[in-house]
Amino acid sequence: MKLEVNQDVCIGCGACHAVCPEVFDINGEGFAETIVDTVAEKDKESAIDAKEGCPVFAIEEVEE
Ligand code: SF4
Repeated sequence: MKLEVNQDVCIGCGACHAVCPEVFDINGEGFAETIVDTVAEKDKESAIDAKEGCPVFAIEEVEE
């Protein structure tokens, strides 16, 4: 599974990083970005929680 953060939509709330720091970090501009190319099996559950928990639906799944 690959996830991307839509930088035009993210409001930088930090929730995704709090829920799944293995996949999401906050960049120098204050917005979230993915720090892995492909989400590891062990991180899938928390990554999906982060995706579903994003208040502005900025996290999108992309084709592998
Ligand atoms: S939860 Fe959504 S809005 Fe908040 S930092 Fe992550 S991607 Fe951005």
